[in-house]
Amino acid sequence: MIKSLNKLFNRKIKERVLFFFLLFPFAALIFNLLFPLPEMKSYSKEIYAKDGTLLTAFLTDDDKWRMYCRTKDISPDLIKAIIEKEDKWFYWHFGFNPASILRASISNLIEGKRVSGASTINMQLARMLEPKERSYSNKVIELLRAVQIELYFPKDKILELYLSLLPYGGNIEGVKSASYLYFNQPPSRLSLAQAVALCVIPNNPNLYRIDKNSEGVLKERNRWLKYFQKNSSFSSFNLNDAFREKLKPNRYPVKFTAPHFCNFINQNFVGREIYTSLDLSIQTKSENLLWNYIRRVYSRNVTNGAVLVIKNKDLSVAAYCGSADFYDKKAFGEVNGIKAVRSPGSTLKPFLFAQAFNSGAYTSKMKLLDIETDFNGYIPENFNLKFSGEVSLDFALVNSLNIPAVSLLSNIGLNNFTSLLEKGHFQTIISDKNTLGLSVILGGCGVTLEELTRFYTIFPNRGKFNNLNYLKDNTGNSDMEEKPVKFFSESAVYMISEILSENKRPDLPNELSGYEIGSSKLPKIAWKTGTSYGKRDAWAIGFNPNYTIGVWMGNFNGKGSPFLSGAEMAVPLLFDLFNSIDYNSEERWFKKPDELLEREVCAETGLLPSKFCKSLTLDYFIESISHSNYCNLYKEIYVNSDSSIEYCPNCLPEKYTRAAYPDYPPELELWYQENGVKYKQHPRHNPDCVIKYSGRGPVILSPSENFEYLVEQKSDEKILLRAAPDAGIRIHYWYINDKFYDKSSAGKGIFFKPKNGKNKITCMDDKGSDRTILINVKYF
Ligand SMILES: [Zn+2]
Ligand SMILES: [Zn+2]
Repeated sequence: MIKSLNKLFNRKIKERVLFFFLLFPFAALIFNLLFPLPEMKSYSKEIYAKDGTLLTAFLTDDDKWRMYCRTKDISPDLIKAIIEKEDKWFYWHFGFNPASILRASISNLIEGKRVSGASTINMQLARMLEPKERSYSNKVIELLRAVQIELYFPKDKILELYLSLLPYGGNIEGVKSASYLYFNQPPSRLSLAQAVALCVIPNNPNLYRIDKNSEGVLKERNRWLKYFQKNSSFSSFNLNDAFREKLKPNRYPVKFTAPHFCNFINQNFVGREIYTSLDLSIQTKSENLLWNYIRRVYSRNVTNGAVLVIKNKDLSVAAYCGSADFYDKKAFGEVNGIKAVRSPGSTLKPFLFAQAFNSGAYTSKMKLLDIETDFNGYIPENFNLKFSGEVSLDFALVNSLNIPAVSLLSNIGLNNFTSLLEKGHFQTIISDKNTLGLSVILGGCGVTLEELTRFYTIFPNRGKFNNLNYLKDNTGNSDMEEKPVKFFSESAVYMISEILSENKRPDLPNELSGYEIGSSKLPKIAWKTGTSYGKRDAWAIGFNPNYTIGVWMGNFNGKGSPFLSGAEMAVPLLFDLFNSIDYNSEERWFKKPDELLEREVCAETGLLPSKFCKSLTLDYFIESISHSNYCNLYKEIYVNSDSSIEYCPNCLPEKYTRAAYPDYPPELELWYQENGVKYKQHPRHNPDCVIKYSGRGPVILSPSENFEYLVEQKSDEKILLRAAPDAGIRIHYWYINDKFYDKSSAGKGIFFKPKNGKNKITCMDDKGSDRTILINVKYF
């Protein structure tokens, strides 16, 4: 009997269990289909520095401070306290706790009043996700939801969602937001007293607001501390401390560290928590130096500046100061100077020189002309309005001479250079490519501090280019190429680093000249300055093996200042930055690549010496890349015994001798003559020679051959006629369209008014040699 009863009972239980297990998933499925989980809330976007310090957070779309709480970021005391207080059996139950529901229902029936405590964390979460009026039917839905949540998420995730949504009054939600806004602390560093305070506020967030009713919160906090004491939830030592802790009625603003950087990250990167590459210590140093520096120069009408610090090793952005003071409305502090398009002045020159060295066609000691030159109608000037005649490439770069740079660009080809900048992601240059001229090398284009500083990392990075890395450990930064692009050989960039780290240069500020490089005042760095046309922008970009730093100074309203020069305005700050960020850098200076060798060259031309070259100097060359052209400046001619008369094969007497004379470019020779520079001139040609003198003939310097001149109809614009003469020539005769026009002293200029269309211009010298060129003139 008992056995059969038992059997029956067992069967019933089994049936029920079976029924439960069959029906429940089915019912759950139906419920799930009819009532899908309410939509999850959106969370505040949080931006962190590399070391995990919160830089800023942004309001959610529904204007809430709602930061997502990962349990690993929350103080364990807080988690323990909240579970003890709200839902002791959280880790054990299946969404709801039948025992406490039963207890609560009985209390309701007997005492006729509501008793709390029946709601599990799951049920409270369901209510926060989907607020509803309190009724028995809603309670049932809440219960089902609680199970649904349990089925959807692991316990840890449920706890995270719950901690993230707890209300804290006003628009503050979640313990993380509350922790930052009420205690100005990350939630991992809360004291026990603070943690317990954050546990009690959500019970009545409008009543218990730390900023308005700290007394009320304190009372409630202590009541719960006593409860925890009774249950020995925490050590008595910690509890005693917690009882003594005061509660200040504060509400802190949300942090906004490195504001331009955070705005940039917010606009360009998606994600809830973004861990960036920003190095907070370098950022703080840079901000302070820039801010103090601007205070010092404010009176000179220089109201703003921007600084970008890049770590060369991984191209990570270590500091990003878009302006001196984000909140300075008068100086347009909210404008991001790192992204502003400005004229680069001379700061692009090193890339042209690197291109020249890289091609092998040029080396440091080769010469470029530095005299007034008409580049097809474009006549650049030097910064100091002076000329040097002829200069070596390294001298031209370190002294930032304009004419040699334009002439180098003209030799290398404008397109070759702009293509380089295009590959270096200079956006404005890409879009303006078709309108750019040779002036691009002097700043006749637009760049940003970000583009420029990024491009300079090519030098410390052995000629390789890549995009900047804004995120910690480069997680998910799709901008970075997998393999950096090689722009220049290691040797070419080493040559640039050597030239730019020289300290005998005009762009060393007055106050720093005389100091040794590597001393406390002058860090060992390579740098280049730039000043834009009209003194609107002052630049200094520098690098050492560890960092590349870009500095821009100017005004966001575009106004210039006579004090705005790269050397005087931007260099002192650049040096301060290097001294503060990387003083006594452990990293040694760049190592000379093995394929970069040294050789003796002719000091006058920088080419391999011929037997006539007397003065020699050392120069770098890249093995099997650099040219091996011999100097042909000196040519042997026939002269008489005292070298006063030159002979040609036609008038060569029996007695003669040979002598080497330099053959300078005609424009340089002319410049030497005009500036009283002594040089070894060819002697006069034999006056008794009956054959027409067969020298080089006049070389027309202006106008430019085959060039199209645009002349305004109404203007009185005239064109300059000027030619370089052979030695011994005194007069130039000018013919326009085969008709005699005028004569001039050899080498001197005269003007003429051209006719519309083709103009044929002929210059003849008094030895009868002539030269003809064509130009095209268009009146408009
Ligand atoms: Zn020579
Ligand atoms: Zn002759």
